[in-house]
Amino acid sequence: MTDSVNEFAARRNDILKRIAAAAKAADRSAADVALVGVSKKQPDTRIAHALAAGQRVFGENRVQEAQARWAGRRADYADLELRLIGPLQTNKAQDAVALFDVIETLDRPKLAKALKAAMEKTGRTPRLYVQVNTGEEDQKAGIAPPDLAGFLTSLREDFGFQIEGLMCIPPVEDPAGPHFALLADLAAANGIEKLSMGMSGDYETAVKFGATSVRVGSALFGERPSA
Ligand SMILES: *Cc1c(COP(=O)(O)O)cnc(C)c1O
Repeated sequence: MTDSVNEFAARRNDILKRIAAAAKAADRSAADVALVGVSKKQPDTRIAHALAAGQRVFGENRVQEAQARWAGRRADYADLELRLIGPLQTNKAQDAVALFDVIETLDRPKLAKALKAAMEKTGRTPRLYVQVNTGEEDQKAGIAPPDLAGFLTSLREDFGFQIEGLMCIPPVEDPAGPHFALLADLAAANGIEKLSMGMSGDYETAVKFGATSVRVGSALFGERPSA
């Protein structure tokens, strides 16, 4: 994979076209699907290319890595939108609230409490998504589907949180479609509008099932360098 602004822009245009085609096939508007560029672990030159090509919405999965990369760039890009898409520890809640515009991985009461305190302290109120463990995998973050409705009620009544969307990461071994359909059903049943679902290998499927944002890393930036 070679690296230049033009090559980044070509990959991005191709992905945007595929999103538009998938949206059209599902009778949806392409304008209702945001492309989140997952920049975790990517070299800084590729981030610069992404910004030069007009990409403004980025997903990161670690608070410290994201701080190092983005804190100094915020002032230069007024329309930058940073989304936390990785698991969040309560002791990082304040740093996350200070940096991110959207936190997609709220999945437990203890984290809700830490986020609430961090919001009161910093005066920042990032938009919130609840992560749902649609495959009910032991090792994966996210609230189990049967517990979602009660959790949402508690977020509203105990914390005063308005939840913007639901997010999921299907089990790697499963076809993604049924998980996306489940997330869409859960959102509809709970009056939630936004769905963060779909990655490099399955974002077109996600659009078909109603994704309002897709999180695309390697297909957009190139393979992540291995550590
Ligand atoms: C890394 C990551 C992605 C992007 O994965 P790709 O396969 O590179 O597109 C999307 N969502 C989450 C939660 C991730 O951690």
